[in-house]
Amino acid sequence: MLMEKLQQERLCIAVASLASCRRALEDTIAYVKERRAFGQPIASFQNTQFKIAELATEVEIGQAFIDKLLVAHVRGEDIVKEVSMAKWWVTDLQKRLTSECLQLHGGYGFMLDYPIAMDYADAAVQTIYAGTNEIMKVIIARRLGLA
Ligand SMILES: Cc1cc2nc3c(=O)[nH]c(=O)nc-3n(C[C@H](O)[C@H](O)[C@H](O)COP(=O)(O)OP(=O)(O)OC[C@H]3O[C@@H](n4cnc5c(N)ncnc54)[C@H](O)[C@@H]3O)c2cc1C
Repeated sequence: MLMEKLQQERLCIAVASLASCRRALEDTIAYVKERRAFGQPIASFQNTQFKIAELATEVEIGQAFIDKLLVAHVRGEDIVKEVSMAKWWVTDLQKRLTSECLQLHGGYGFMLDYPIAMDYADAAVQTIYAGTNEIMKVIIARRLGLA
């Protein structure tokens, strides 16, 4: 029973993790447009633009994968390997994304008054519960016939 339901639990975490990524990115985009340094919005710096462009791309890649898995899961397919891939990849993205977004907030990113500080702290657990990301890779390797 538990083994059957873990696919669903891990898919739910991947969905929630991606939603958190999207919201943290939206908050950060709003922040970098508002915050000014050296007389201009920090959004005008190419580093800011490149970081956000890269993260937004990864969010869309993750969304396409998650949408495909949701359809397969609702159809009752065995997608343990693919869900394990989604769980580790999306939660790893969330950790990287919240770290980059916090950096773009500068010192304010360290203050709990700004949601990104809690987003960063919350991201840590995503790669641990419902099976750690290392265990996700063990499952994928097994399903690929490697162990
Ligand atoms: C907030 C929170 C909520 C939770 N909710 C639930 C819940 O509702 N129900 C439930 O049953 N559990 C729950 N857990 C437990 C969670 O599933 C475990 O913490 C998780 O599976 C890791 O187990 P562990 O803590 O014993 O770490 P350990 O197994 O001690 O792992 C420590 C480290 O060693 C690595 N490691 C362990 N084995 C291997 C291996 N074979 N190969 C490579 N690396 C390995 C791990 O990946 C990790 O990095 C929750 C945990 C947290 C933090």
